[in-house]
Amino acid sequence: MNSIKNIYQEKYQRVLVTGGAGFIGSCLIRELLKTTNSKVFNLDVLSYSSDLTSINSTLKEYEINEKRYEHLLVDLKNYEDVNKAINYSNPDLIFHLAAESHVDRSIDNPKPFIKNNIIGTLNLLEISSIHYQNLSESKKNAFRLINISTDEVYGSLDNMSLFNEESSYNPTSPYSASKASSDHLVNAWYHTYGLPTITTNCSNNFGPWQFPEKLIPLTINKALSKQNIPLYGDGKNIRDWLFVEDHVNALLKLSFLGKLGNKYCIGGYKELTNLEIVESICEKLDILRPINHSYKELINFVKDRPGHDFRYAIDATKIEKDISWKSKTEFSIALEKTIIWYLNNQSWCEKVLKKSGYKGERVGLQNNLG
Ligand code: NAD
Repeated sequence: MNSIKNIYQEKYQRVLVTGGAGFIGSCLIRELLKTTNSKVFNLDVLSYSSDLTSINSTLKEYEINEKRYEHLLVDLKNYEDVNKAINYSNPDLIFHLAAESHVDRSIDNPKPFIKNNIIGTLNLLEISSIHYQNLSESKKNAFRLINISTDEVYGSLDNMSLFNEESSYNPTSPYSASKASSDHLVNAWYHTYGLPTITTNCSNNFGPWQFPEKLIPLTINKALSKQNIPLYGDGKNIRDWLFVEDHVNALLKLSFLGKLGNKYCIGGYKELTNLEIVESICEKLDILRPINHSYKELINFVKDRPGHDFRYAIDATKIEKDISWKSKTEFSIALEKTIIWYLNNQSWCEKVLKKSGYKGERVGLQNNLG
């Protein structure tokens, strides 16, 4: 099979990534810069969770021509600015990742989720549709918009079943409701206006460079600073974990092998309770950075998150069959790599936390939700 470099050379010389300064988007951009020759445009408003350090480091480390990358400081909520950005970047391919992404924040303050995730997507779809209609026939054939969504749109699972592409949407938090709305809009633009789209619903990602309010980096940082590690409820809620580089690999493959108008569920077949994952982190830290007691002693059960979904788990059969994608990285190796990265990059954590004004607590805890 042709390499990604050749395929992108032929089809996608100009790639637009929305939300490319976030955790998953920046990993995708780093991979695009390393494995293709395409020009990459990063449309990102730079919210509290954004950071461009990893992209800038990659440009330097791999001696990539800086002309191959451009950041467009644009808010998807602003129709005119998005219009200018699409006209300017003239993309052959769009990956849409920009979103407010933290459930706890959506419980605290839902409106930004509705505005950024729904209105933002609406603007992108309207403008991308016009852009698509004006493309030459050959560019039209190649063009697609990949909408990156979450398994949380399906709501909560019992102990037995798995989510797949046929599962009904049943979002339960303002975050998942806003992502579900965004997915429905993408689907409508495919059917009504013929915009070539694909939607992905992925499970919980982890890896280096994740803003330290999410469970894994929060746990590592709390442990390292010998503070209580907050765990919602009884810690028995289950998530299906996927290493971010494996997710990005799936997105790249889907960009040229995925079927238009289809949805793809992406997961790592690695179900763990929140307690199990926190304990695994503590056990690894006990070896890597020993103190006079186990880090497990810092675990502190706090009042459960309202509407906390019990279990998410993905049946990834379709993506495996259609494009031969499977998560590759063994979970414990990926977790160790992630922990070591956070141990070596505490100054990055301090920098992004300071810049964001975030105090390092579970967000819900600040308003007595936790
Ligand atoms: P993130 O919060 O780290 O990054 C989101 C980025 O989007 C930020 O850089 C932010 O500035 C940008 N953004 C937000 N609103 C914007 C707007 N109006 N205009 C321009 N830019 C805007 O999030 P992430 O974890 O990288 O998630 C990326 C996408 O993947 C999201 O759509 C999320 O729903 C989805 N997803 C995330 C996970 C996960 O575990 N993190 C799992 C499945 C799906």
